[in-house]
Amino acid sequence: MTDEQKEQIKKQIAQDLEALNSEVADLQEKTKPIPPDCCLGDLRFEMMHEQEVFERTLHEAKIRINKLKYALGKIDKEGYGFCMECDEEIPFGRLLILPESMYCTACASNK
Ligand SMILES: [Zn+2]
Repeated sequence: MTDEQKEQIKKQIAQDLEALNSEVADLQEKTKPIPPDCCLGDLRFEMMHEQEVFERTLHEAKIRINKLKYALGKIDKEGYGFCMECDEEIPFGRLLILPESMYCTACASNK
């Protein structure tokens, strides 16, 4: 991988992190407890169900943030961009979409 490609991936990670951080802020707002006097019956049930979905999304967003930060810390170190399974170089296009990839396309689809 060239330095230029690394820079490109770093930029991509920064962009993804920014998007995720604002998503997390938004979701945290949406998952705040519903005030007890807010609404009753079916509507309340619906809102609680909706919040469960938001909470799951929030959880996933936080996991991805951690993965991206980890990738960002590893990018300048040896081994980044190589498959942990077969040691092949992970295609640049794949890293650009999923900078946290640790496996090449073939190994990842075998999992
Ligand atoms: Zn592989």
